[in-house]
Parts: sequence; structure tokens; C-alpha cells
Amino acid sequence: MDKIAMKTPLVEMDGDEMTRILWKLIKEELILPFVDLKTEYYDLGLEKRNETDDQITVDSALAAKKYGVAVKCATITPNAARVKEYNLKEMWKSPNGTIRAILDGTVFRAPIIVKGIEPNVRTWKKPITIARHAYGDVYKAAEMKIPGAGKAELVFTDENGNETRELIHNFKGSGVLQGMHNLTSSIESFARSCFAYALDTKQDLWFATKDTISKKYDHTFKDIMQEIFDAEYADKFKEAGITYFYTLIDDAVARVMKSEGGYIWACKNYDGDVMSDMISSAFGSLAMMTSVLVSPDGCYEYEAAHGTVQRHYYKHLQGEETSTNSVATIFAWSGALRKRGELDNLPDLMAFADKLEAATIATIEEGKMTKDLALITTLENVTVLNSADFIRAIRGKL
Ligand code: NAP
Ligand code: MG
Repeated sequence: MDKIAMKTPLVEMDGDEMTRILWKLIKEELILPFVDLKTEYYDLGLEKRNETDDQITVDSALAAKKYGVAVKCATITPNAARVKEYNLKEMWKSPNGTIRAILDGTVFRAPIIVKGIEPNVRTWKKPITIARHAYGDVYKAAEMKIPGAGKAELVFTDENGNETRELIHNFKGSGVLQGMHNLTSSIESFARSCFAYALDTKQDLWFATKDTISKKYDHTFKDIMQEIFDAEYADKFKEAGITYFYTLIDDAVARVMKSEGGYIWACKNYDGDVMSDMISSAFGSLAMMTSVLVSPDGCYEYEAAHGTVQRHYYKHLQGEETSTNSVATIFAWSGALRKRGELDNLPDLMAFADKLEAATIATIEEGKMTKDLALITTLENVTVLNSADFIRAIRGKL
């Protein structure tokens, strides 16, 4: 059999722990036998990040910007324990944070739907994709504890020293205070990423805030989204037969629960944090959640939504058998290959991505799955496979 040819390399970002083991298996069993794979390889494993003073992460993000499509393995975000474990020079920043800052992107998360893993919400038939704005608000807020009576004000001092003040509260006793911000440029990028992704995936886009209460802050989000939609996307949406829909956040939550799914739900930073965990657990499993970072200028970085599955890795190191779910990582590869095929006009590569996904889903629907899914499936007589055998079962199907 001739292998499927590629034109432009994919930016390949390798990672850590159990997902690094899956990464190698997925390539060997599911990609390399079929595709004449071209990648520009960046090792984002923690050792290499430490060795290069994290330059490798920056380089990989710049490569993603250059080539337009990347596929990333889960990586460790160091904490104090990791600094000790890996003898790190520094507590390096989250690679995802670094990449996101360089690509200025929005993260879209969608569940992979299979028969036998039923959503907890009966009406959900199609995936709900969460688009989370990933800058500012409560994540970059200044906070204060107020010890007792006094006046709290918001003060903005412009470059010429002119002050604008707004009373927050006249405290009669103790309390708490928070000041948060966002940037017009960041909200605009978010808007463009969401509209572009909706067009790309031909799904309706929903957006919600609390603009009736937050008449300046949240209203600005609502206004910017609407202005950019009207000026740049309204015609394209009409042509594609999709809609942009704005409502209040509490109304959105109620509608989501009664919907069939099949749309993108754009959320402010905090709403997206909370709602993406609700959506992923209600659809079944974190191990079945895909994630793609889309920049406003059209770069795509695909990954699984879960982490490096540390607990399984330690079992693996002790020679114990693991049953780690590789579905979201396989879909990161298929997503990246399909996008590469689309941009380079390679129908065979796009078809291969479809077949890889279909083989993965069919394997599970035939009752062959990893332990995490076996615990929640409605299918009977399932076979629980270990990490490697599950990937080999998909290979057989493929
Ligand atoms: P995690 O890797 O997502 O795993 C948490 C637990 O969820 C696992 O112990 C496992 O439960 C279950 N799980 C997650 N993915 C699974 C899969 N593919 N198959 C089967 N079960 C799965 O989160 P973590 O253990 O808290 O974090 C480990 C490391 O990942 C951390 O260093 C963190 O910094 C990093 N992280 C990276 C990313 C990223 O790169 N995008 C995202 C999140 C976290 P059981 O143990 O009960 O089987
Ligand atoms: Mg969260």
C-alpha cells in the first residue's frame, strides 16, 4: 500500500508521563503505517523544557504560527513537587499558557460522542463545544480584605495624570474587594476566533453574559461581539446557514439543558472554566474531550483536554498494566491531519483522518474499550483492554 503523502509539516509537540507513552504508540500503530508523516518535532517533555530554559516551548509556538497546524501531547505544569521530582532550575510556566499567549487564541472543547457512553442530559444528541475566553477577569484580578469602615473607589489615572473615580462602596464594617479588567484587543480576538471556528465547523454560535447587571463590563463584551459580527461575519454566517445568538447567561444555561446540542457556546473566562467541566462530565468522561486552540489569524493547535494521567504513569513505571484512554489524543492527531489536509488540499489525508476517527468509535461501540469507559458504559459484555491493546484494536479496525 502506498502511504498517504503530506506537503507541509505538522508541528508536533511531544509531552510527559502516560500521554507521552500513548503518543509513541499512536504514532507507531495508527499513523506511521498509513501516512508518510512530515512533522517538525518539538519535545515539550519537562526535562527538555528545563534543559532549554523553556525556549523549546516558545520555539514550538512560533513554529505553530509559521505552519498553521500543531498537535500537542499533554504536558506537566510544574508545581513545587515537580520542581523537586525533576530537579528543575525554575518552576517553568504552563506550556499551554505560553503557547496561548503567543498564538493569542481561544480554546474550543468538544466531547467525542459514542453509542454506549450516554450523556447524563437525555436531550443532548450532538456535541456542545465550549469556547472559553482565556484572558483577564477574575483570573487577573487585584483583591483586598477590608478590615473596617472606609471608602472604596475605582481610580483610573490616564497618561497625563487625570483621574477618573467611581465609588464602589462606603464600608461601615469589614468586607472584601476585587478589581478586575479586560482588554478590547483580547475581546476582539476572542470574537474573531469564535466566529471563524463557527464558520469552520458549520455550527451556530451562542454567547452570553450578565449585561443587564454589569452595564459597562459585560455589556462591552456583548457590544464588541455584535459589532464584529455585523461588520465582518453576518454575510458569511447567512451563506453557511448558521446563526449567532446572544442571550443572558442564566437564560443560556436553561436553554443548554433543554437543547439537542450541536452548537458552540462562547463563554467569558470564568463561565467557561465552570461550564466546560460541567459539559465534559455530563457527556461522560474527561478522557473523551478534545481541545483545539484557534488563533484569530487562523492557526490551529489540537490536543486532548485531559492531563498527563500521572497516576497511571506511576503504575506503568512499576511494571503494572494500565488501561489509559487514548481517544482524545488520537482525535488530536486526526484533527490536526484533517486540518493540514484541508489547507494543503490533500483529500486522501482528510479521508484518513475521518477513517481513523470512525475506527476509534467503532472499536468502542463493538464493546472494546479502556477501563474508564467500561465503568460508565451502557453496553453489555464489554472487553476491557490495556492501553496498548486498545490502540492495537483500533489498528485492526483501521
Ligand atoms: P489528569 O492527567 O487529567 O488525570 C486526572 C485523572 O483523571 C486520572 O488520574 C484518571 O483517573 C482520569 N483520567 C484523565 N485522563 C484519562 C485518560 N486518558 N484515561 C483514563 N483516565 C483518565 O490530571 P492530573 O493527574 O491532575 O494532572 C497530571 C498532570 O497533567 C499535571 O502535572 C498537570 O499539570 C498536567 N495537566 C496538563 C494539561 C495539558 O497539558 N493540557 C491539562 C491538565 C493537566 P483515575 O486515576 O481515577 O483512573
Ligand atoms: Mg477548571
